[in-house]
Amino acid sequence: MKIIKPWVELAEIDGVKVMKSLERAAKHCYRTEGNIKENSYDHFLRNCINRGHESVLEHEKVTIRICCDVGAYKDITRHRLASFSIESTRYCNYSKDKFGNQISFIEPCNIEDEELFLAWQQCMEQIEKTYHEMASKGATPDQLRFLLPHSTAAELTMTANIREWRHIFALRADKHAHPSIQQFMIPLLLYFKKQMPALFDEVEYNEEFDPKKYAEIKIIQ
Ligand SMILES: Cc1cc2nc3c(=O)[nH]c(=O)nc-3n(C[C@H](O)[C@H](O)[C@H](O)COP(=O)(O)OP(=O)(O)OC[C@H]3O[C@@H](n4cnc5c(N)ncnc54)[C@H](O)[C@@H]3O)c2cc1C
Repeated sequence: MKIIKPWVELAEIDGVKVMKSLERAAKHCYRTEGNIKENSYDHFLRNCINRGHESVLEHEKVTIRICCDVGAYKDITRHRLASFSIESTRYCNYSKDKFGNQISFIEPCNIEDEELFLAWQQCMEQIEKTYHEMASKGATPDQLRFLLPHSTAAELTMTANIREWRHIFALRADKHAHPSIQQFMIPLLLYFKKQMPALFDEVEYNEEFDPKKYAEIKIIQ
């Protein structure tokens, strides 16, 4: 069995390009494209957001790949206006060489107590043992997936437009979201804030969440 940490991977966001594209779409409403200046997108988009003119934010999207636990992916896939492609537990047989003959579990970020962690670890080991036993007796992935717990690592590709990302961050980088979601949503939001400040500056997040627990955000150049 492998115990791994969650991560997010995405192509580098050219924030200025995204913001200028949204400015052009919004100014089309008023036929004021002629007013576009080098940095006019910043003030203009902040005004759109303040006034609730948010449909213009739907013209640009961002796609990410996430590796998180099944619990976090169940929560994140509740967002109906985003699109998802998820690793299939019906087709992936973790007893096969492709997966190193083992199940990957995400290290829980909110079980700090050593005794509790050991209890969790022993439970995962037992699950993996039974998984292999059943696989060796001919169980199919469709049968084996009944064993997989919320801690199982799952990979998914997720796409959402800028309006929906703002909504998702507001809910999932907040202290009321499960820690496993905050763990990758907060550092991702911080990256979005850096690249697209006019769009994400005022989105709040749980500043008390320990940055040492943040998932790695891998940016592909
Ligand atoms: C802290 C927390 C605890 C939660 N606990 C539970 C729980 O115990 N049980 C549970 O089942 N879920 C729970 N949820 C999930 C929650 O109820 C939502 O399903 C999920 O957060 C998706 O949010 P959404 O519907 O706003 O967003 P999206 O699906 O991303 O939709 C975006 C927005 O589009 C609009 N919209 C989308 N679809 C419709 C529609 N059909 N009708 C009208 N407007 C629509 C809404 O304005 C919505 O906010 C929890 C979420 C959080 C953040």
